[in-house]
Amino acid sequence: MEFSQQFSTSPKSEAERAAILADPGFGDYFTDHTVVIDWTVDAAGEGGWHDARVEPYGPIMMDPAAAVLHYGQEIFEGLKAYRHADSSVWTFRPEANAARFNKSAVRLALPELPEEDFIESLRQIVAADRAWVPSGDGEALYLRPFMIATEAFLGVRPSREVSYRVIASPAGNYFGGELKPVSIWLSERYARAGHGGTGEAKCGGNYAASLAAQIEAEQHGCKQVLFLDPTNDHAVDELGGMNVFFVLADGTVVTPELNGNILHGVTRSSVLQLARDRGLVVEERKFTIAEWRERVADGTLAEVFACGTAAVITPIGELKTAVDTLVTPTAQGEPVWKGIREQLLGIQTGTMEDTHGWLTRLA
Ligand SMILES: *Cc1c(COP(=O)(O)O)cnc(C)c1O
Repeated sequence: MEFSQQFSTSPKSEAERAAILADPGFGDYFTDHTVVIDWTVDAAGEGGWHDARVEPYGPIMMDPAAAVLHYGQEIFEGLKAYRHADSSVWTFRPEANAARFNKSAVRLALPELPEEDFIESLRQIVAADRAWVPSGDGEALYLRPFMIATEAFLGVRPSREVSYRVIASPAGNYFGGELKPVSIWLSERYARAGHGGTGEAKCGGNYAASLAAQIEAEQHGCKQVLFLDPTNDHAVDELGGMNVFFVLADGTVVTPELNGNILHGVTRSSVLQLARDRGLVVEERKFTIAEWRERVADGTLAEVFACGTAAVITPIGELKTAVDTLVTPTAQGEPVWKGIREQLLGIQTGTMEDTHGWLTRLA
């Protein structure tokens, strides 16, 4: 697909960009450009992608009746562009994000975007906004591809007009400041997904559904929420936007199996591979809240951590529930999560060997 380029006539000044890059935070600032590809259904009923372009970043003109605003027909992705020491820019397993984006598209009755166009769209935005890729430790340019239903129509059916877009935002450490174990709240009143629902699609609706639980978490002094599956022995599903892992005292690494409710995290799959590479036993299986309580009580739980592109790997220090607090023990020696986190970041930032061919050069 050919992309036309209309570069911004009023990009942020070098001084403004430098001030932002000095303390990027997460998701607060956006670069000077955006990528857009439109999709429409023609008179013969055939859908097709067209008008791929790079545009100046700015508000979207949309009809107030656009389907996405009423029925939430929307999906998104999240990946990062990392600047290596020689200033080249790379991303991590983008083909996995492209494949997941298309799985999400099918679930939300949106059109699939060819993998090569997805990856080319990332190249295009990074080429236009290369100066925005940070070089600090743990920093990256967060790329946010998304697809929205733009047809002005209030009937309920899949939209015949769709827009694919990519925006980019310089990112520091997701939770801000140094990496310390977080407290998470166990949501028992709300679920983020149900069987046959959209739990394994990356769609905005899942996040909207998690916000009331997030408010509840904040009222209990927690930053994140853990969701269970009440119809499956209260098995642990995941956090609102991150997958969850357990390390047992014997070194076994356990993560909930992909059961249709859980997002197929690229970080999750990479952590599993790096754990196997270390010779650790890994298990993808049901892990119930009862097992969590038992293992805390009998001392067979060593570590709990969450993982996702935005925050990479974050240790979980405790789980607060309505009735108790499950405290993760303090690690004896180097925790498993730490070594895997360093290796993952090392591969992504080009300081450690990419033995699985996970990196793709963007610029
Ligand atoms: C994006 C996301 C994740 C993490 O996926 P990664 O590919 O590792 O970034 C986990 N859970 C949910 C609900 C998500 O939306």
